[in-house]
Amino acid sequence: MSNNLFDLIVIGAGPAGYVCAIRASQLGMKVACVDKNPDLGGTCLNVGCIPSKALLHSSFLYHQTKDLLASHGIRAEKLSFDLKTFMARKDKVVQDLTRGVGFLFKKHEVTAFTGEAYITSPQTVEVKKARGRKETLQAKSIVVATGSMPVVLPDLEVDEKQVVTSTGALSLSKVPEHLMIVGGGYIGLEIGSVWRRLGAKVTVIEMLETLVPLMDQELAQVLYRHLLKQGVEFKLGAKVESVRRRKDQRLTVRVKTLKNGAPQPHTCDVLMVAAGRKPLTQGLGLEEIGVAYEQGGQIQVDSQYATSVPGIYAIGDVIAGPMLAHKGEEEGIALAELLAGQQGHVNYAAIPSVVYTHPEVASVGQTEEQLKEQGIAYKKGRFPFSANPRAKAVGDTEGFVKILSHAGHDQILGVHIIAPDAGSLIAEAVVAMEFGATAEDLARTCHAHPSLNEAVKEAALDACGRVLHR
Ligand code: FAD
Repeated sequence: MSNNLFDLIVIGAGPAGYVCAIRASQLGMKVACVDKNPDLGGTCLNVGCIPSKALLHSSFLYHQTKDLLASHGIRAEKLSFDLKTFMARKDKVVQDLTRGVGFLFKKHEVTAFTGEAYITSPQTVEVKKARGRKETLQAKSIVVATGSMPVVLPDLEVDEKQVVTSTGALSLSKVPEHLMIVGGGYIGLEIGSVWRRLGAKVTVIEMLETLVPLMDQELAQVLYRHLLKQGVEFKLGAKVESVRRRKDQRLTVRVKTLKNGAPQPHTCDVLMVAAGRKPLTQGLGLEEIGVAYEQGGQIQVDSQYATSVPGIYAIGDVIAGPMLAHKGEEEGIALAELLAGQQGHVNYAAIPSVVYTHPEVASVGQTEEQLKEQGIAYKKGRFPFSANPRAKAVGDTEGFVKILSHAGHDQILGVHIIAPDAGSLIAEAVVAMEFGATAEDLARTCHAHPSLNEAVKEAALDACGRVLHR
Protein backbone atom coordinates (compact mmCIF):
# COMPACT_ATOMS: atom_id res chain seq x y z
CA MET A 1 0.00 0.00 0.00
CA SER A 2 1.35 3.43 -0.90
CA ASN A 3 1.96 5.80 2.00
CA ASN A 4 -1.12 7.87 1.22
CA LEU A 5 -3.46 4.96 0.54
CA PHE A 6 -5.69 4.16 3.52
CA ASP A 7 -8.70 2.03 4.38
CA LEU A 8 -10.30 4.99 6.13
CA ILE A 9 -9.79 8.76 6.19
CA VAL A 10 -11.44 10.60 9.08
CA ILE A 11 -11.84 14.37 8.65
CA GLY A 12 -11.88 16.05 12.06
CA ALA A 13 -10.07 15.00 15.24
CA GLY A 14 -12.81 16.00 17.69
CA PRO A 15 -14.33 13.39 20.00
CA ALA A 16 -16.37 11.83 17.17
CA GLY A 17 -13.48 11.70 14.68
CA TYR A 18 -10.51 10.75 16.87
CA VAL A 19 -12.44 7.98 18.64
CA CYS A 20 -13.65 6.61 15.29
CA ALA A 21 -10.06 6.66 13.98
CA ILE A 22 -8.68 4.81 17.02
CA ARG A 23 -11.47 2.18 17.03
CA ALA A 24 -11.05 1.59 13.27
CA SER A 25 -7.32 1.11 13.74
CA GLN A 26 -7.97 -1.33 16.61
CA LEU A 27 -10.12 -3.30 14.17
CA GLY A 28 -7.26 -3.62 11.69
CA MET A 29 -7.87 -0.72 9.31
CA LYS A 30 -5.12 1.57 8.04
CA VAL A 31 -6.42 4.96 9.18
CA ALA A 32 -5.61 8.63 8.51
CA CYS A 33 -7.12 11.47 10.53
CA VAL A 34 -6.95 15.01 9.12
CA ASP A 35 -7.53 18.13 11.21
CA LYS A 36 -6.84 21.74 10.29
CA ASN A 37 -6.00 22.44 13.93
CA PRO A 38 -2.62 21.08 15.06
CA ASP A 39 -4.09 20.90 18.57
CA LEU A 40 -6.14 17.73 18.31
CA GLY A 41 -9.38 17.08 20.21
CA GLY A 42 -11.75 19.42 18.39
CA THR A 43 -14.16 21.86 20.01
CA CYS A 44 -14.46 19.63 23.06
CA LEU A 45 -10.83 19.74 24.17
CA ASN A 46 -9.81 23.14 22.78
CA VAL A 47 -12.73 25.52 23.29
CA GLY A 48 -15.64 23.51 24.71
CA CYS A 49 -16.20 20.86 27.37
CA ILE A 50 -12.75 20.90 28.93
CA PRO A 51 -11.77 24.60 29.21
CA SER A 52 -15.30 25.42 30.41
CA LYS A 53 -15.12 22.76 33.13
CA ALA A 54 -11.64 23.88 34.17
CA LEU A 55 -12.91 27.45 34.69
CA LEU A 56 -16.13 26.25 36.31
CA HIS A 57 -14.07 24.34 38.85
CA SER A 58 -11.61 27.15 39.62
CA SER A 59 -14.40 29.70 39.96
CA PHE A 60 -16.44 27.33 42.12
CA LEU A 61 -13.50 26.83 44.51
CA TYR A 62 -13.29 30.60 44.90
CA HIS A 63 -17.05 30.97 45.43
CA GLN A 64 -17.06 28.04 47.87
CA THR A 65 -14.22 29.49 49.91
CA LYS A 66 -15.77 32.96 49.89
CA ASP A 67 -19.42 32.13 50.46
CA LEU A 68 -19.96 28.54 51.52
CA LEU A 69 -17.20 27.46 53.91
CA ALA A 70 -18.22 29.71 56.82
CA SER A 71 -21.01 27.26 57.75
CA HIS A 72 -18.29 24.62 58.34
CA GLY A 73 -16.41 26.99 60.62
CA ILE A 74 -13.75 27.70 58.00
CA ARG A 75 -12.85 31.35 57.61
CA ALA A 76 -10.72 32.61 54.75
CA GLU A 77 -9.39 36.09 55.31
CA LYS A 78 -8.05 38.40 52.62
CA LEU A 79 -9.30 36.04 49.92
CA SER A 80 -8.41 36.93 46.34
CA PHE A 81 -7.96 35.24 43.00
CA ASP A 82 -5.59 35.66 40.12
CA LEU A 83 -7.37 35.39 36.76
CA LYS A 84 -4.08 34.89 34.92
CA THR A 85 -3.40 31.76 36.98
CA PHE A 86 -6.96 30.50 36.35
CA MET A 87 -6.42 30.91 32.61
CA ALA A 88 -2.91 29.45 32.62
CA ARG A 89 -4.17 26.39 34.50
CA LYS A 90 -7.06 25.98 32.04
CA ASP A 91 -4.65 26.29 29.08
CA LYS A 92 -2.32 23.68 30.60
CA VAL A 93 -5.22 21.23 31.09
CA VAL A 94 -6.22 21.77 27.45
CA GLN A 95 -2.62 21.39 26.24
CA ASP A 96 -2.10 18.14 28.19
CA LEU A 97 -5.29 16.62 26.81
CA THR A 98 -4.79 17.70 23.19
CA ARG A 99 -1.25 16.31 23.30
CA GLY A 100 -2.79 13.16 24.78
CA VAL A 101 -4.79 12.65 21.58
CA GLY A 102 -1.56 12.86 19.55
CA PHE A 103 -0.04 10.26 21.87
CA LEU A 104 -3.10 7.99 21.43
CA PHE A 105 -2.81 8.31 17.64
CA LYS A 106 0.81 7.17 17.79
CA LYS A 107 -0.03 4.31 20.14
CA HIS A 108 -2.91 3.12 17.95
CA GLU A 109 -1.04 3.74 14.68
CA VAL A 110 -3.42 6.37 13.30
CA THR A 111 -1.60 8.65 10.84
CA ALA A 112 -2.36 12.29 11.65
CA PHE A 113 -2.31 15.01 8.96
CA THR A 114 -2.51 18.72 9.78
CA GLY A 115 -4.31 20.79 7.17
CA GLU A 116 -7.67 21.68 5.72
CA ALA A 117 -9.36 18.70 4.12
CA TYR A 118 -11.27 18.93 0.86
CA ILE A 119 -13.07 15.93 -0.62
CA THR A 120 -12.33 15.81 -4.35
CA SER A 121 -14.02 12.44 -4.98
CA PRO A 122 -15.71 9.75 -2.84
CA GLN A 123 -12.26 8.14 -2.40
CA THR A 124 -9.95 11.15 -2.41
CA VAL A 125 -9.17 13.87 0.08
CA GLU A 126 -6.87 16.78 -0.61
CA VAL A 127 -5.12 18.21 2.44
CA LYS A 128 -4.17 21.89 2.16
CA LYS A 129 -1.16 22.33 4.40
CA ALA A 130 0.86 25.32 5.54
CA ARG A 131 2.78 27.42 2.97
CA GLY A 132 0.51 26.35 0.08
CA ARG A 133 1.61 22.70 0.18
CA LYS A 134 -0.93 20.02 -0.70
CA GLU A 135 -1.13 16.30 -0.12
CA THR A 136 -3.57 13.84 -1.65
CA LEU A 137 -4.91 10.92 0.39
CA GLN A 138 -6.96 8.01 -0.87
CA ALA A 139 -9.20 5.54 0.94
CA LYS A 140 -12.14 3.18 0.50
CA SER A 141 -14.18 5.14 3.03
CA ILE A 142 -14.22 8.75 4.24
CA VAL A 143 -15.77 9.92 7.50
CA VAL A 144 -16.83 13.56 7.91
CA ALA A 145 -16.57 14.55 11.59
CA THR A 146 -16.04 18.30 11.21
CA GLY A 147 -18.25 19.30 14.13
CA SER A 148 -20.09 22.56 14.57
CA MET A 149 -19.63 26.30 14.98
CA PRO A 150 -21.50 28.95 16.99
CA VAL A 151 -24.54 30.62 15.48
CA VAL A 152 -23.98 34.39 15.52
CA LEU A 153 -26.56 37.15 15.26
CA PRO A 154 -26.98 38.77 11.84
CA ASP A 155 -25.16 42.11 11.51
CA LEU A 156 -23.20 41.54 14.70
CA GLU A 157 -19.45 41.45 14.28
CA VAL A 158 -17.79 39.02 16.67
CA ASP A 159 -14.29 40.14 17.69
CA GLU A 160 -13.90 37.50 20.47
CA LYS A 161 -12.85 40.30 22.85
CA GLN A 162 -15.95 42.40 23.46
CA VAL A 163 -18.56 40.66 21.34
CA VAL A 164 -17.70 37.04 21.93
CA THR A 165 -18.83 33.48 21.35
CA SER A 166 -18.09 30.84 24.00
CA THR A 167 -14.53 30.72 22.63
CA GLY A 168 -13.77 34.35 23.55
CA ALA A 169 -15.76 34.10 26.80
CA LEU A 170 -13.40 31.33 27.98
CA SER A 171 -10.35 33.57 27.54
CA LEU A 172 -11.33 37.06 28.74
CA SER A 173 -8.35 38.95 30.13
CA LYS A 174 -10.33 40.57 32.95
CA VAL A 175 -13.59 40.02 34.78
CA PRO A 176 -16.24 42.03 32.94
CA GLU A 177 -18.23 44.52 34.97
CA HIS A 178 -21.37 43.50 33.11
CA LEU A 179 -21.54 40.43 30.89
CA MET A 180 -24.70 40.08 28.83
CA ILE A 181 -25.39 36.64 27.36
CA VAL A 182 -27.70 35.96 24.44
CA GLY A 183 -29.16 32.48 24.99
CA GLY A 184 -30.26 30.57 28.08
CA GLY A 185 -28.97 27.16 26.96
CA TYR A 186 -26.36 25.19 28.88
CA ILE A 187 -23.35 26.93 27.36
CA GLY A 188 -24.64 30.40 28.33
CA LEU A 189 -25.53 29.26 31.86
CA GLU A 190 -22.20 27.51 32.49
CA ILE A 191 -20.05 30.38 31.25
CA GLY A 192 -22.37 32.91 32.94
CA SER A 193 -21.82 31.02 36.22
CA VAL A 194 -18.03 31.27 35.86
CA TRP A 195 -18.02 35.06 35.50
CA ARG A 196 -20.80 35.63 38.06
CA ARG A 197 -18.78 33.73 40.68
CA LEU A 198 -15.83 35.98 39.92
CA GLY A 199 -17.88 39.12 40.50
CA ALA A 200 -19.37 40.13 37.14
CA LYS A 201 -22.96 41.29 36.84
CA VAL A 202 -24.44 38.71 34.46
CA THR A 203 -27.66 39.11 32.48
CA VAL A 204 -29.00 36.27 30.35
CA ILE A 205 -31.41 37.16 27.54
CA GLU A 206 -33.53 34.26 26.34
CA MET A 207 -36.23 34.33 23.65
CA LEU A 208 -38.28 31.61 25.32
CA GLU A 209 -39.99 31.92 28.70
CA THR A 210 -37.83 29.10 30.06
CA LEU A 211 -34.17 28.10 30.32
CA VAL A 212 -32.68 25.02 28.61
CA PRO A 213 -35.99 24.28 26.82
CA LEU A 214 -35.32 20.57 26.22
CA MET A 215 -34.74 19.92 29.92
CA ASP A 216 -37.54 18.52 32.14
CA GLN A 217 -39.28 21.76 33.09
CA GLU A 218 -39.62 20.98 36.79
CA LEU A 219 -35.81 20.93 36.98
CA ALA A 220 -35.45 23.94 34.68
CA GLN A 221 -37.60 25.95 37.10
CA VAL A 222 -35.52 24.89 40.11
CA LEU A 223 -32.27 25.67 38.27
CA TYR A 224 -33.67 29.10 37.35
CA ARG A 225 -34.38 29.85 41.04
CA HIS A 226 -30.89 28.71 42.10
CA LEU A 227 -29.20 30.88 39.49
CA LEU A 228 -31.36 33.86 40.49
CA LYS A 229 -30.25 33.31 44.10
CA GLN A 230 -26.64 33.32 42.90
CA GLY A 231 -27.28 36.75 41.41
CA VAL A 232 -27.63 35.90 37.72
CA GLU A 233 -30.24 38.16 36.14
CA PHE A 234 -32.60 36.99 33.41
CA LYS A 235 -34.66 38.58 30.69
CA LEU A 236 -36.89 35.74 29.54
CA GLY A 237 -39.20 36.04 26.52
CA ALA A 238 -36.88 38.76 25.21
CA LYS A 239 -34.55 39.33 22.31
CA VAL A 240 -31.70 41.63 21.34
CA GLU A 241 -32.87 44.32 18.91
CA SER A 242 -29.55 46.03 18.30
CA VAL A 243 -26.00 46.37 19.62
CA ARG A 244 -24.05 49.61 19.39
CA ARG A 245 -20.39 50.17 20.24
CA ARG A 246 -20.01 53.34 22.33
CA LYS A 247 -17.16 55.84 22.48
CA ASP A 248 -16.35 54.76 26.05
CA GLN A 249 -15.57 51.22 24.76
CA ARG A 250 -18.77 49.81 26.22
CA LEU A 251 -21.79 48.40 24.36
CA THR A 252 -25.40 49.53 24.30
CA VAL A 253 -27.62 46.50 23.89
CA ARG A 254 -31.29 47.18 23.19
CA VAL A 255 -33.45 44.35 24.47
CA LYS A 256 -37.08 43.94 23.48
CA THR A 257 -39.53 41.91 25.54
CA LEU A 258 -41.54 39.85 23.09
CA LYS A 259 -44.84 40.34 24.92
CA ASN A 260 -44.86 44.12 25.14
CA GLY A 261 -42.94 47.32 25.20
CA ALA A 262 -40.34 49.25 23.30
CA PRO A 263 -36.72 48.02 23.34
CA GLN A 264 -34.90 48.93 26.56
CA PRO A 265 -31.22 49.97 26.39
CA HIS A 266 -28.67 48.19 28.61
CA THR A 267 -24.99 48.91 28.95
CA CYS A 268 -22.45 46.12 29.18
CA ASP A 269 -18.75 45.68 28.54
CA VAL A 270 -18.92 42.17 27.07
CA LEU A 271 -21.69 40.55 25.05
CA MET A 272 -21.58 36.79 24.61
CA VAL A 273 -23.62 35.14 21.88
CA ALA A 274 -24.64 31.63 22.95
CA ALA A 275 -27.63 31.19 20.68
CA GLY A 276 -26.84 27.64 19.59
CA ARG A 277 -24.43 25.93 17.22
CA LYS A 278 -24.70 24.86 13.59
CA PRO A 279 -23.05 21.99 11.70
CA LEU A 280 -19.74 22.89 10.04
CA THR A 281 -20.06 21.57 6.50
CA GLN A 282 -18.79 24.36 4.27
CA GLY A 283 -15.59 24.24 2.28
CA LEU A 284 -15.32 20.45 2.35
CA GLY A 285 -16.47 19.79 -1.22
CA LEU A 286 -19.62 18.01 0.00
CA GLU A 287 -22.05 19.86 -2.27
CA GLU A 288 -19.80 19.25 -5.27
CA ILE A 289 -19.94 15.46 -4.85
CA GLY A 290 -23.69 15.50 -4.10
CA VAL A 291 -23.92 14.89 -0.33
CA ALA A 292 -27.51 15.62 0.82
CA TYR A 293 -28.41 17.73 3.85
CA GLU A 294 -31.25 17.77 6.38
CA GLN A 295 -33.42 20.91 6.55
CA GLY A 296 -31.48 22.10 9.59
CA GLY A 297 -28.17 21.96 7.66
CA GLN A 298 -26.96 18.67 9.17
CA ILE A 299 -25.50 16.04 6.84
CA GLN A 300 -28.19 13.48 6.05
CA VAL A 301 -27.22 9.94 7.07
CA ASP A 302 -28.98 6.58 7.30
CA SER A 303 -29.02 4.36 10.40
CA GLN A 304 -25.44 3.25 9.56
CA TYR A 305 -24.07 6.83 9.21
CA ALA A 306 -23.85 6.53 5.40
CA THR A 307 -24.48 9.78 3.50
CA SER A 308 -26.22 9.93 0.14
CA VAL A 309 -22.82 9.37 -1.55
CA PRO A 310 -21.52 5.77 -1.27
CA GLY A 311 -18.26 5.58 0.68
CA ILE A 312 -18.82 8.86 2.56
CA TYR A 313 -20.03 8.72 6.17
CA ALA A 314 -20.74 11.37 8.82
CA ILE A 315 -20.84 11.41 12.64
CA GLY A 316 -20.89 13.83 15.58
CA ASP A 317 -22.16 17.42 15.58
CA VAL A 318 -22.42 17.50 11.75
CA ILE A 319 -25.36 15.07 11.84
CA ALA A 320 -28.71 15.29 13.65
CA GLY A 321 -29.09 14.65 17.38
CA PRO A 322 -27.80 16.29 20.54
CA MET A 323 -24.53 18.18 20.01
CA LEU A 324 -22.61 16.39 22.74
CA ALA A 325 -19.11 14.97 22.83
CA HIS A 326 -20.12 11.55 24.18
CA LYS A 327 -22.87 11.19 21.54
CA GLY A 328 -20.20 11.77 18.85
CA GLU A 329 -17.81 9.30 20.50
CA GLU A 330 -20.46 6.57 20.53
CA GLU A 331 -21.20 7.23 16.87
CA GLY A 332 -17.48 7.05 16.09
CA ILE A 333 -17.19 3.63 17.73
CA ALA A 334 -20.39 2.33 16.13
CA LEU A 335 -19.34 3.47 12.66
CA ALA A 336 -15.84 1.95 12.91
CA GLU A 337 -17.41 -1.34 13.96
CA LEU A 338 -19.97 -1.23 11.13
CA LEU A 339 -17.18 -0.57 8.62
CA ALA A 340 -15.36 -3.61 10.01
CA GLY A 341 -18.47 -5.74 9.43
CA GLN A 342 -19.53 -5.76 13.07
CA GLN A 343 -22.85 -4.73 14.66
CA GLY A 344 -22.03 -1.18 15.79
CA HIS A 345 -24.99 0.53 17.42
CA VAL A 346 -25.88 3.65 19.43
CA ASN A 347 -28.82 3.62 21.84
CA TYR A 348 -30.10 7.17 21.39
CA ALA A 349 -32.65 6.63 24.17
CA ALA A 350 -29.87 6.42 26.73
CA ILE A 351 -27.65 9.42 26.04
CA PRO A 352 -27.19 11.54 29.15
CA SER A 353 -26.93 15.31 29.12
CA VAL A 354 -25.49 17.47 31.89
CA VAL A 355 -25.50 21.17 32.71
CA TYR A 356 -22.43 21.85 34.88
CA THR A 357 -23.84 24.75 36.88
CA HIS A 358 -24.16 24.57 40.66
CA PRO A 359 -26.23 22.58 41.32
CA GLU A 360 -25.68 20.45 38.22
CA VAL A 361 -28.60 19.16 36.20
CA ALA A 362 -28.36 15.75 34.55
CA SER A 363 -30.93 13.90 32.50
CA VAL A 364 -31.35 10.72 30.54
CA GLY A 365 -34.40 9.55 28.61
CA GLN A 366 -37.73 11.26 28.37
CA THR A 367 -39.00 14.29 30.27
CA GLU A 368 -42.47 14.53 31.82
CA GLU A 369 -43.44 16.96 29.06
CA GLN A 370 -42.45 14.44 26.35
CA LEU A 371 -44.31 11.57 28.02
CA LYS A 372 -47.46 13.68 28.36
CA GLU A 373 -47.20 14.79 24.74
CA GLN A 374 -46.98 11.16 23.60
CA GLY A 375 -49.84 10.07 25.91
CA ILE A 376 -47.61 7.54 27.71
CA ALA A 377 -48.90 6.73 31.20
CA TYR A 378 -46.06 6.89 33.73
CA LYS A 379 -45.26 6.64 37.43
CA LYS A 380 -43.13 9.28 39.09
CA GLY A 381 -40.74 8.79 41.98
CA ARG A 382 -39.08 11.79 43.59
CA PHE A 383 -36.58 12.10 46.41
CA PRO A 384 -34.98 15.30 47.75
CA PHE A 385 -31.31 15.53 48.76
CA SER A 386 -32.45 17.33 51.93
CA ALA A 387 -33.45 13.84 53.17
CA ASN A 388 -30.19 12.17 52.04
CA PRO A 389 -27.73 11.63 54.92
CA ARG A 390 -24.57 12.15 52.84
CA ALA A 391 -25.90 15.43 51.41
CA LYS A 392 -26.72 16.52 54.97
CA ALA A 393 -23.24 15.55 56.20
CA VAL A 394 -21.45 17.55 53.51
CA GLY A 395 -23.92 20.43 53.80
CA ASP A 396 -25.03 20.42 50.18
CA THR A 397 -28.71 19.45 50.20
CA GLU A 398 -29.96 21.25 47.12
CA GLY A 399 -31.99 19.37 44.53
CA PHE A 400 -33.76 16.08 44.01
CA VAL A 401 -33.93 12.93 41.86
CA LYS A 402 -36.93 12.24 39.68
CA ILE A 403 -37.53 8.84 38.10
CA LEU A 404 -40.22 8.28 35.50
CA SER A 405 -41.19 4.68 34.81
CA HIS A 406 -43.87 3.09 32.66
CA ALA A 407 -47.22 2.88 34.49
CA GLY A 408 -47.73 -0.68 33.27
CA HIS A 409 -44.44 -2.60 33.01
CA ASP A 410 -42.37 -0.18 35.18
CA GLN A 411 -39.46 0.12 32.72
CA ILE A 412 -37.49 3.32 33.41
CA LEU A 413 -38.33 5.95 30.80
CA GLY A 414 -36.40 8.93 32.14
CA VAL A 415 -34.27 10.05 35.07
CA HIS A 416 -33.67 13.69 35.96
CA ILE A 417 -31.36 14.85 38.72
CA ILE A 418 -30.60 18.31 40.04
CA ALA A 419 -27.82 18.11 42.62
CA PRO A 420 -24.21 19.17 43.22
CA ASP A 421 -22.79 16.05 41.49
CA ALA A 422 -25.71 15.17 39.21
CA GLY A 423 -23.34 14.63 36.26
CA SER A 424 -21.80 11.62 38.01
CA LEU A 425 -25.01 10.43 39.69
CA ILE A 426 -26.78 10.06 36.34
CA ALA A 427 -24.38 7.26 35.26
CA GLU A 428 -26.21 4.55 37.21
CA ALA A 429 -29.50 5.61 35.59
CA VAL A 430 -27.88 5.40 32.13
CA VAL A 431 -26.59 1.88 32.87
CA ALA A 432 -30.01 0.89 34.23
CA MET A 433 -31.75 2.17 31.09
CA GLU A 434 -29.17 0.54 28.83
CA PHE A 435 -30.06 -2.80 30.46
CA GLY A 436 -33.82 -2.07 30.19
CA ALA A 437 -34.20 -1.94 33.99
CA THR A 438 -37.43 -1.21 35.83
CA ALA A 439 -37.72 1.24 38.72
CA GLU A 440 -38.09 -1.81 40.94
CA ASP A 441 -34.70 -3.17 39.69
CA LEU A 442 -33.05 0.08 40.86
CA ALA A 443 -35.04 0.06 44.11
CA ARG A 444 -33.83 -3.49 44.89
CA THR A 445 -30.16 -2.71 44.13
CA CYS A 446 -27.96 -2.26 47.20
CA HIS A 447 -26.48 1.27 47.32
CA ALA A 448 -23.56 2.20 49.58
CA HIS A 449 -24.39 4.19 52.70
CA PRO A 450 -23.98 7.07 53.16
CA SER A 451 -23.86 8.11 49.51
CA LEU A 452 -25.64 10.61 47.30
CA ASN A 453 -26.65 7.66 45.08
CA GLU A 454 -29.01 6.50 47.80
CA ALA A 455 -31.31 9.32 46.65
CA VAL A 456 -31.56 7.54 43.26
CA LYS A 457 -32.58 4.32 45.02
CA GLU A 458 -35.12 6.21 47.16
CA ALA A 459 -36.63 7.90 44.08
CA ALA A 460 -36.97 4.43 42.53
CA LEU A 461 -38.61 3.20 45.76
CA ASP A 462 -40.95 6.19 45.56
CA ALA A 463 -41.91 5.27 41.97
CA CYS A 464 -42.82 1.84 43.38
CA GLY A 465 -44.95 3.48 46.10
CA ARG A 466 -42.72 2.51 49.02
CA VAL A 467 -40.21 5.27 49.74
CA LEU A 468 -38.41 4.60 53.03
CA HIS A 469 -36.71 7.76 54.23
CA ARG A 470 -39.29 10.44 53.56
P1 FAD B 1 -15.65 18.93 16.98
O1 FAD B 1 -15.25 18.65 18.36
O2 FAD B 1 -16.16 20.28 16.68
O3 FAD B 1 -14.38 18.60 16.07
C1 FAD B 1 -14.39 18.87 14.70
C2 FAD B 1 -12.97 18.97 14.21
O4 FAD B 1 -13.00 19.05 12.79
C3 FAD B 1 -12.23 20.21 14.70
O5 FAD B 1 -11.03 19.83 15.33
C4 FAD B 1 -11.97 21.02 13.43
O6 FAD B 1 -10.70 21.69 13.46
C5 FAD B 1 -11.97 19.93 12.37
N1 FAD B 1 -12.31 20.42 11.02
C6 FAD B 1 -13.40 21.12 10.64
N2 FAD B 1 -13.36 21.35 9.32
C7 FAD B 1 -12.22 20.78 8.86
C8 FAD B 1 -11.62 20.68 7.58
N3 FAD B 1 -12.17 21.18 6.46
N4 FAD B 1 -10.44 20.03 7.47
C9 FAD B 1 -9.83 19.51 8.57
N5 FAD B 1 -10.37 19.57 9.81
C10 FAD B 1 -11.55 20.20 9.94
N6 FAD B 1 -20.38 18.51 25.04
C11 FAD B 1 -20.49 17.64 26.07
O7 FAD B 1 -20.78 16.46 25.84
N7 FAD B 1 -20.27 18.02 27.37
C12 FAD B 1 -19.95 19.29 27.69
O8 FAD B 1 -19.77 19.60 28.87
C13 FAD B 1 -19.81 20.23 26.64
N8 FAD B 1 -19.45 21.51 26.91
C14 FAD B 1 -19.30 22.39 25.87
C15 FAD B 1 -18.94 23.69 26.17
C16 FAD B 1 -18.78 24.62 25.15
C17 FAD B 1 -18.37 26.02 25.49
C18 FAD B 1 -18.95 24.21 23.80
C19 FAD B 1 -18.75 25.18 22.67
C20 FAD B 1 -19.31 22.91 23.48
C21 FAD B 1 -19.50 21.99 24.52
N9 FAD B 1 -19.88 20.68 24.26
C22 FAD B 1 -20.04 19.79 25.30
C23 FAD B 1 -20.16 20.21 22.89
C24 FAD B 1 -18.98 19.40 22.34
O9 FAD B 1 -17.82 20.18 22.40
C25 FAD B 1 -19.29 18.97 20.92
O10 FAD B 1 -20.53 18.29 20.89
C26 FAD B 1 -18.21 18.04 20.38
O11 FAD B 1 -16.94 18.64 20.41
C27 FAD B 1 -18.54 17.62 18.96
O12 FAD B 1 -17.57 16.72 18.54
P2 FAD B 1 -17.24 16.50 17.00
O13 FAD B 1 -16.12 15.52 16.97
O14 FAD B 1 -18.48 16.19 16.27
O15 FAD B 1 -16.75 17.91 16.46
